[in-house]
Amino acid sequence: MFDQLKKYLFEDQTVRAEVVSIRDTWKEIQARHDYPPAVQRLLGELVAASTLLAANIKFKGTVVLQLQGDGPIGLIVVECHADLGLRATVKLREGRAVPDDGTFQSLLNPHGGGRFSVLLDPQDRLPGQQPYQGIVALEGDSVAQALEHYMLTSEQLQTRIWLAADSGCAAGVLLQQLPKHGGKASPETTSDTDDTWERALILADTLKAEELLSLAPDALVRRLYWQETLHAFDPATITYRCTCSREKVADVLLRLGKEEVDDILAEQGRVQINCDYCVKSFDFDPVDCAELFANASASIRHESRSQH
Ligand SMILES: [Zn+2]
Repeated sequence: MFDQLKKYLFEDQTVRAEVVSIRDTWKEIQARHDYPPAVQRLLGELVAASTLLAANIKFKGTVVLQLQGDGPIGLIVVECHADLGLRATVKLREGRAVPDDGTFQSLLNPHGGGRFSVLLDPQDRLPGQQPYQGIVALEGDSVAQALEHYMLTSEQLQTRIWLAADSGCAAGVLLQQLPKHGGKASPETTSDTDDTWERALILADTLKAEELLSLAPDALVRRLYWQETLHAFDPATITYRCTCSREKVADVLLRLGKEEVDDILAEQGRVQINCDYCVKSFDFDPVDCAELFANASASIRHESRSQH
């Protein structure tokens, strides 16, 4: 099955795996934008990566992966909720060509100013509480290597990631070495533990991009680890979901201020804002805008009165 993420545990419980293969949701993301092939590849890999991370967070909330570039690509953002509902957007620099053979480094980090950031944003965050954010330089030649570099600085556990994407599929594999139960392991079990980890890595390194892009998680795991016994967990389904709304756009207009909004109305007759992610268009005519600011000042008056 596609558009699913599956988790597996090796028999000795020292290595866990996550495998994801995304088709319909990936097509839905691409249908909203027209990206050059090299951008599509990087975006698809980041989409797959976001699900591998989101499937593993311990809170209800969102994982936001950002590749900030100083080359032809300015920004790639993927937001994935813990329930694997996700959305994505890309900002290209105007007037900069994106060659089809553009690489991770040449498109995102030609001047060394690129950054990879991971934001963990709990849903029930208290007012004033900041989400956790980790930022690292863009190391390596791929999204997977940049992510591994981040994991190395933030996670206690050894983690390896393989990613691939084309126009039809975005896919990924994550392997993580787990701590042995019961604290200190005897020297013998330590070497067993390392054996499983080493074996898992060697086999995963034989994975070809075509295999990652064509096989559903169970088929891929069977092909790689047919000699091992793995426990498979129930799959989780990946969906496209944008969290934009008319209310959120109205908040943006309120923050912009009445003067600024009046200027736009005078110039264009209405205010139209498109969502960066799903490109849905939100339209506010002069009556909508007048109502918006009238309601806002009424609620401010109400609040200040109720404080007395
Ligand atoms: Zn949207």
